[in-house]
Parts: sequence; structure tokens; C-alpha cells
Amino acid sequence: MLDVILDRGRDRSVRRRHPWLMSGAVARILGDEAPGALARVLSNDGEVLGYGHVSPRSSVRVRMISFGKEPVDEAELIAEAIARASALRTPELCGETDGVRLVNAEGDGLPGLVVDRYGDVLVAGVASAGMDRVRPLWSDALRAHVGTDSGLERAHPAAARREGFAARSVPLWGEPAERVVLREREREYVVDLRGGQRTGFYLDRRTARDRVQALAQGRRVLDLFCYSGGFSVAAVHGGARSVTAVDSSETALRLARENIERTGAPIVPAVLRADAFQFVRGCEDLFDLIVIDPPPLARARRDLRKATRAYKDVVLHSLRRAAPGALGLFFGGSHHLDPELLRKVVFGASLDAGRSLQVLEEIGAAPDHPVSLDHPEGRALTGLLTRVVPQR
Ligand code: SAH
Repeated sequence: MLDVILDRGRDRSVRRRHPWLMSGAVARILGDEAPGALARVLSNDGEVLGYGHVSPRSSVRVRMISFGKEPVDEAELIAEAIARASALRTPELCGETDGVRLVNAEGDGLPGLVVDRYGDVLVAGVASAGMDRVRPLWSDALRAHVGTDSGLERAHPAAARREGFAARSVPLWGEPAERVVLREREREYVVDLRGGQRTGFYLDRRTARDRVQALAQGRRVLDLFCYSGGFSVAAVHGGARSVTAVDSSETALRLARENIERTGAPIVPAVLRADAFQFVRGCEDLFDLIVIDPPPLARARRDLRKATRAYKDVVLHSLRRAAPGALGLFFGGSHHLDPELLRKVVFGASLDAGRSLQVLEEIGAAPDHPVSLDHPEGRALTGLLTRVVPQR
């Protein structure tokens, strides 16, 4: 057994059930610290506090999978967590859709593992050495419990490098298709399971897509950082007057065009390849609904100043393109840009743009992306729905 012994006074976060044990809290390690190995975590005076997976190279040294003295049976623990997670995703919670997040890592008690379901295919992503080691356990449990025709793993190369395991993009069982059509309410999206971003689609924006669809009637919509057109398609279904979608990736735009065409609406969208930060500076059109959904601009706290400056800039310039009474839906793009900071940055942009803004609603990730209160870092998405107050 591998033992991780904490420094004196550094056991507080484990006792509060925080799933991440930072390397600075570790006094010593007894045993072979192979990446992803199961470790017993002890306080400095020898009390067993729980069990977790070690990541020797990471600043998150242990990801806890259970708390308390009771030894763990990993196969049982993982199978139970998957059964619990899957029981949560009911139509009452998610509404009518065949795309749901089945396992949301720490939020479902399985640090380092996300699983999305697209109809009859499951797509898993591994972000820790521990979940890499126990692949057969979660893969078998998913297959037995959820029972889709096929399962696929999508590599997360940055995490694999950080954690020291080999990135793999491989079928887990069955013969996963290259592409599937996701049906969410009356919206349809082609999802590229092999080449798309993340697991193929941003399921977490579902609540926000519903909102955009409900508010789009008659509006000129700008969808910045559109990826495969999640918001554009929602806007078209909601009766938008026009749609302008911008992304820097041609692969993303091909999907966006295809997805907007699938709606069959007699609308000719402008689907443009551009740097969104530049685009808003040069744009001369006016819009009534503006969505800004950038990639993570701050991956670490030290990048936050630069990120907030860039973010403020894109909001500022898009507010200059906002018609009176326009709606703006602004996403932070990283948990570092938390709701409070997001409000400050948007406020700064509104001052510089000389526009007064009202906040109508804060929109988070859809409820199939639960965040454990033990793990506030798990909150990944915050959107601010605002209105530009019409001036007299
Ligand atoms: N709104 C999308 C998700 C956006 S993810 C949805 O609902 O599905 C962020 C997107 O920003 C990615 O598609 C990425 O290709 C794009 N991107 C990254 N940097 C960009 C830039 N400088 N200008 C325009 N798009 C960019």
C-alpha cells in the first residue's frame, strides 16, 4: 500500500472533503508512487483520512476518491458512482435531448473522468493518471450500466502530458460512428466525434441555448466564438432576423454551416472565419443579440490580467455594435473569471463604451454538469445575460 502522509496542520482540506490534495501539503510518501496508483492518505499523526489516486508530476498530487478509514474497493466504488451519476440524468432534469453529460468528474465523485452521451455512443475523456490506470473499471461499468452500442475515448493530450500517461483516442467497445446527429429540443447538431472539440459538442451550454432560442425572435444575432454553431442554430429556431457567426477554426465553421443549413430556415447566415477580437473592431453592422463565448483565456491565475484585458476589449467593441435594447450574453470562458469578476469586467467595458447595462440573468452550465460544493473549482461556466438600456 502506498501511503501519503500530510504535513502537520495540512489535513484541513481533506477533512472538508476537498477532492484535491496539493503537493505542498504532503510531508512524505511511503511506497512506490507510480502515476495513478491508489494511495492511502494519512494525517501527520497517522490517522487515515481517505483514499485517492496519486499524480507524482502534478501540483494536484492526490485526487481523492473516498474519505474516511474504510478501505476502498475501486471497482465497486466506480460502478456505484456511475450508477448514481446515470440515475441523476433524467428527462425531468435535462429536458428533451439525446445528448447528456453522464459523468462530470469531481461533480460526480470521479475526479479526472468526463463522459458524454450522444444517442447510442458514449464519449469519455480522461484527465488524470488514476483514471488512465482504472480504465477497464469505468469502461466496463459504463458498458454494463448504460449499455450504449459503442463507446469511444477522446484523448486530452495536455492532461496526458501533465499527468504522465499516453494520450489515446480509441474505441472502448463496439464501433463508434465518426459523426452523430444530436437532437436537443427541436434543434439538431452534427457532432464530429473524432475531430471535434472536447468530446464533440458543448453540452454544458444547453440552458443558454434554450434562452437564446426563446429570445431571438426578430433579432440580428452575432455569435462570436461560434464553434459548431450551437447558439446560431438556437437563434435560427427562435426566429432570428439574421445570424453572423464567427470563429477562427475552419473545421468548426464547416460544422456550423452544416448545422445552420440543417434547420432548413430561409436565412442566409454569415459564417465567417476571423479572429473575433479583430472582427468586432472592424465590424460596422448593428446587432440586437450578441453572444460572446471565448475559449479559456486564463488557464492559470497568473494569466488573469491579460485575459481580463482581452475580454474587456471584445465586450467593449461588441457593445459599440449593439442596437438600443440589444441583449448581450457574455461567458467568462474559465473558472478563474468567476461571476463577480465577469460582472466587473463587463461593467468596465460598458463604461468605456458609454452604454448602460442591466443584468437580467446569470446562466450557468446545464444541470447534467453538477458541481460539488466540496469542489468550487469545478464550476466551469458562467454567462451573464444583459440588456443595453435604450437611451432617450
Ligand atoms: N460557442 C461555442 C463554444 C465556443 S468554444 C458553442 O456553443 O459550441 C471557443 C471557440 O473559440 C472555439 O471554437 C475556437 O475555435 C474559437 N476561437 C479560439 N480563439 C479564437 C479567436 N481568436 N477568434 C475567433 N475564434 C476563436
